Amino acid sequence: MLAGLLLAGPGFAQQRRAQKPAARPAPPAIPTPRSVLGFEPGDDRKLVEWPVLVRYFEALAKASDRVDYRELGKTTLGAPFIALAISSPQNLKRLDYFRQVNAGLADPRVFKTSRAARDALNNGKAIVLITSSIHSTEVGGHLSPVLLAYRLATDTSAATRAILDNVILWLVPSLNPDGVTIVAKWYNRTLGTGAEGLSPPELYHHYAGHDNNRDWYAFTQVETRLTVDSLYNVWHPQVVHDIHQMGSTGARLFLPPYLDPVEPNVDPLLIDGVNVLGMSMAWELAGQGKTGISTNSTYDAWTPARAYQHYHGGVRILSETASADLATPVDVPFDRLEARERGFNPRERSWNFTNPWRGGRWTLRDIVSYQTEGAYALLSQVARTRERWLSNFFTVETRAARGWREWPYAYVIPARQDSVALSAMLDILRRGDVEIRRALQSFSLQGQRYNAGTYVVVLRQPYAAFAKTLLEAQHYPDRRQYPNGPPERPYDVTAHTLPLLMGVNAIVANDSLRVQLSSPITPRFVNPVPPALGDSVPRIGLYQSYDAAIDEGWTRWVFENWKVPYVSLVDSVVRAGKLHDQFDVIILPDQAPREILDGLPRRYPAPYAGGIGPEGSDALRQFVADGGTLVALNESSRFAIQALLLPVRNVLEAVPDEDFYAPGSIFRLELDTTTAVARGMPKEASGWFQGSPAFESLDTTVSHVIGKWPDDPARLLLSGWVMHPERIAGKAAILEVRQGSGRVILFGMRPQYRGQSIATYPLLFNSLHLTAR
Ligand SMILES: [Zn+2]
Repeated sequence: MLAGLLLAGPGFAQQRRAQKPAARPAPPAIPTPRSVLGFEPGDDRKLVEWPVLVRYFEALAKASDRVDYRELGKTTLGAPFIALAISSPQNLKRLDYFRQVNAGLADPRVFKTSRAARDALNNGKAIVLITSSIHSTEVGGHLSPVLLAYRLATDTSAATRAILDNVILWLVPSLNPDGVTIVAKWYNRTLGTGAEGLSPPELYHHYAGHDNNRDWYAFTQVETRLTVDSLYNVWHPQVVHDIHQMGSTGARLFLPPYLDPVEPNVDPLLIDGVNVLGMSMAWELAGQGKTGISTNSTYDAWTPARAYQHYHGGVRILSETASADLATPVDVPFDRLEARERGFNPRERSWNFTNPWRGGRWTLRDIVSYQTEGAYALLSQVARTRERWLSNFFTVETRAARGWREWPYAYVIPARQDSVALSAMLDILRRGDVEIRRALQSFSLQGQRYNAGTYVVVLRQPYAAFAKTLLEAQHYPDRRQYPNGPPERPYDVTAHTLPLLMGVNAIVANDSLRVQLSSPITPRFVNPVPPALGDSVPRIGLYQSYDAAIDEGWTRWVFENWKVPYVSLVDSVVRAGKLHDQFDVIILPDQAPREILDGLPRRYPAPYAGGIGPEGSDALRQFVADGGTLVALNESSRFAIQALLLPVRNVLEAVPDEDFYAPGSIFRLELDTTTAVARGMPKEASGWFQGSPAFESLDTTVSHVIGKWPDDPARLLLSGWVMHPERIAGKAAILEVRQGSGRVILFGMRPQYRGQSIATYPLLFNSLHLTAR
């Protein structure tokens, strides 16, 4: 590598110098990472905050004509959100031209002749988007982009020149810059203490925490929006490479192919692309002597929440490298490796795990090496096969624009519906580059009359797959570990049907509609309407555990967007008691009972270790006795039942997976709309069920069922997957229990799931004594 660089360097540099006017001052020397960071990326125990990394990328772009620096906007907490364009100087000078060529391939309807399409295929460059560090405790991802950018800016090998000539790389060094700083600050503060290497006691994305990479269709967070608006929808990458880390006791590196199931609306050619590219990276790294690489394991490709590009003509190549303890090395002897992982055994050789890692020390240097070499291998492969990537991209978009024969013609969305929810749903489709039209006259469909102005999404357009997967119900396959055995767990949730989540009516039209449609329109955006406050504004406390719960972040996000006033409540405040003097309502977000009670382990310094403890439990019981309302969401309901000794049984307590399973699904929810909590709701709604309890009252004189699951198990599932629905048929989903002068509202569902389930927000808002909308 070094020898090649020395040999190739001078000739290449001379060639470039010859083209430049003699008077121009020599460009500044390209800064090494060490010159700005103060250490070599990958050195043990060395992390820096985001502004230092930004300084490096700015300096690099200033010195190198292969690197352009762009600030796309500001993050949630106000940091610069940046991207680098990396390519040959010639390509960078004509970026706008290549953007236009690629936009044509992304929407083949613009080509008037086949000659124009052929020219675009010949002239275009492969567009690759590499995103790193969305999960901020996966700290190799903070540093690998530095090494990759420096290498591409300085290396003069033939392989690097091929990359620069054939590929336009957009590199987002961090999809969550705020988290880079949060984790680096925490790590540096705890260095040398018993807490060294532990995760910080707060969410590393202010609202979404680890769910920030489940936001690629809901687009709730500014970082997601900036990436989609400024990169995905402008540059239409053929290849997206998302750099992650996983646990330390499995493979050293995961690369695609993904496990089944693949979501059925993804074009088959994209799955082929995923498979070949992941495998070629694995092959390349194996050739370099890297071991412990698994493919076709652990990760499936079911949800659009993590894979925007699978619905926009490109492939998503996830890489997951084994972690250390943040930047602190770990020792993993061979016999501490897992004996069984999904799809392979880390201790045994198999076709998709050809060369096991022998165990031993694992450091940040190993991590950045696997990540940087992996990204470089991806770029090399795409550079070698540029024409195939462009041509397949064009094929995928052509097929989508023509429409798939077995797909419905369109979705019809009546305009007169709850305006906030309808607007939120249409805005998601719009941001996903879906064309939305309006009917120019009234028309009939399945015996129903629809007014002029009705929205119509025709499924013959470049991004039809995105619209279809979000508008239809999911039928997750019934996958078992062996016939009639326990379920094979999906990697994440199984449903993403927006009309159900948002309470919007969308009707499928199988055949062409007999009505004229407008050109694509931009739907009017309607801001959330704050729930009407009662005569006296309730004092709302939202429990915030140091064992950071993502649902707490989502609750904050929903409250802030809907202008619901609240105060965050930490352990010491709960433990101090006298809670009813300060609050009318306390909300426990979705969190495991043990995390609420015991919190973080004693290795954490004060005030982070320990949860609310027995004093906190007593204080909450007293709060309710004094007249307070305790709202417990999903898993925290189990805590409330235990801590307040409520006469309620969770019928799913200790029930094993094989007897009941629903890993994130949408169920039919029947509501008693005469209750204050369900006031204004339809009698039948849809509820998000995920690791939820289901309730049976043991004393009906003090409890009232606000919502229940249908008596008929066949009517339960609306989207996703459920095994043995009869276990919860007819059971309470939302239960009010009176105790002392107060009450507890138990939710056996997630009313404000990931900022998406607008349909059931009113149930949460009403629980606060507020009237929604
Ligand atoms: Zn991750």
